[in-house]
Amino acid sequence: MKLSWRVATVSGIAIRVHVTFLFVVALGAMEWGLSHGTRGALFGAVLVCLLFACVALHELGHSLVAQRLGVSVREILLLPIGGVARLGREPKTALHELLIAVAGPLVNVILAVLLVVGARVVVGPVWLSDGGFVRALMAPPALATLVAALTAANLALAVFNMIPALPMDGGRVLRAVLTFFLGKLRATSIAATVGQFLAAGLAAFGLMSGNVVLVAIGVFVFLGAAQER
Ligand code: ZN
Repeated sequence: MKLSWRVATVSGIAIRVHVTFLFVVALGAMEWGLSHGTRGALFGAVLVCLLFACVALHELGHSLVAQRLGVSVREILLLPIGGVARLGREPKTALHELLIAVAGPLVNVILAVLLVVGARVVVGPVWLSDGGFVRALMAPPALATLVAALTAANLALAVFNMIPALPMDGGRVLRAVLTFFLGKLRATSIAATVGQFLAAGLAAFGLMSGNVVLVAIGVFVFLGAAQER
């Protein structure tokens, strides 16, 4: 893809970052910089970069399992709305699709667990009790704040991607499970319908609550589901 550059290569897979990523880093720096000065700006930029590293690891989870199952991976592209692992072809069986789809969110669950365990060692058990986690999330730039934000982000990535709306991982899991019983065509049709229904709900909720990001994701998922169909 044009306007993107390679930041790493893992197992022969180029990980590329789209140029619009710089805009998100600037946004993160601005958001934290406004309330916490230069230190905040630096923190915001580092946080955004680490968030994207988690997204890259999510996509690597999909990609490495795909490679093991004989599906080539052309590249991983990181966009402001998330990452995309571009597979060379569709997985051969429903079981393969299921395993590839689950691998991404599983990486985020593992990362969240590692972060929690790491923070317990560094910050102490108080971090997990008496609302310490939420306090850390709201706190000024510090290591604990960073760890709390990354933990929350990884949990959100796992949960959000497992929403059973078709272009998303959860939708692929749903289709794979349905394929076992109904065959791929019918399974795709049902999973796409469920996906569009959920996407419309998400967009409507975004409109009502004034959340532009949710509306954008709803539209994105809706169109993706239509394309899968
Ligand atoms: Zn994924």
